[in-house]
Amino acid sequence: MDFKGSQDIQTLKEWLSGANRITILSHTHPDGDALGSSVGMGLYLREVLGKDAVCLVPDPVADNLQFILPEGLPLMDFKTCPDACRERIAGSDLILLLDGNNLSRTEALEPLVSASNARKVLIDHHIGPDREHFPLVFSTPEISSASELLYWVLKALGPQPLPLGCLQALLTGMTTDTNNFANSVYPSTFRMASEIIAAGADRDAVIGQLYNNYRENRVRLFGVMQAHGLKLLPNGTAYMILTREILTRFDIREGETEGLVNVPLTIGGVRLSLLLKEDQGHFRVSIRSKKGTSARLLAQEHFHGGGHENASGGKLYFPADVPTPGDAAALVEAILMQYCR
Ligand code: 5GP
Ligand code: MN
Repeated sequence: MDFKGSQDIQTLKEWLSGANRITILSHTHPDGDALGSSVGMGLYLREVLGKDAVCLVPDPVADNLQFILPEGLPLMDFKTCPDACRERIAGSDLILLLDGNNLSRTEALEPLVSASNARKVLIDHHIGPDREHFPLVFSTPEISSASELLYWVLKALGPQPLPLGCLQALLTGMTTDTNNFANSVYPSTFRMASEIIAAGADRDAVIGQLYNNYRENRVRLFGVMQAHGLKLLPNGTAYMILTREILTRFDIREGETEGLVNVPLTIGGVRLSLLLKEDQGHFRVSIRSKKGTSARLLAQEHFHGGGHENASGGKLYFPADVPTPGDAAALVEAILMQYCR
């Protein structure tokens, strides 16, 4: 994973040095990798290059991921301050999209970014990069995360050493996307982690914040869903539905259901797990699978989504896809039974 000397790095270097107002974008409901890579980039641009750089996301940052955001790095979200976001995008001369392969992953921001004359750079690890909107693309699907990809890009850009805060954010993003080194781990991933820890990053603090800092009700919801909400189908697929009712009963906040979709895959015979989470007018769909079964195709074919081979997501709209939320279980069962024969 060595970008040193590549033409794209040279171009990025020139674009960064020529830019004054830089905006770093990521996808809706930003996860740990979206935020880790955005913060890593933001700190590099501000602390190393001295640029006016801000992070901008479509939705507010979940409480359990707030720890990734450092003081001194502005982050704005479109839901909370749409006018300021509009102004920022219109006034930017360089826009970077991290952890999203397509401008459409920014949803409400898409028309604003499309209309801007800023130079646009994509740094991402999903297949199918959006070259139409982004003339400069760093796209590597055989890598753990956008955070890891950005680490190798920043190393090639230099100078060394990179700021510790930047490294710590990238370590955090990589840790969430690999589920703490459980999946999408490559030799380069261990090299990155090893170098960052050697540079002084506090991995214990990252793990503590990510995995040992939940609220009690999140743990209790997981117990109830595992005992009563988990449906196992005879073809080795599983699904769970988080209704508005149960989310309200357990007072579940954004980000707190992270990890639930992985639980059914710990059963030997299960090869694909699907989680529906009720939202306004749609369910958010999360899919995870074991090697040999494609989560990505299921998301593309049935849920208006996409993602990685074994970790994908999308949406199920009501009434467009399913008449009412109560009809979702029957539809999902039919889809799963037909998809995995
Ligand atoms: P999660 O289940 O954690 O929300 O999402 C897992 C992965 O699925 C994400 O990293 C992303 O690659 C992909 N993904 C999630 N939601 C969507 C979506 O609405 N559209 C597309 N194209 N990909 C999604
Ligand atoms: Mn990612």
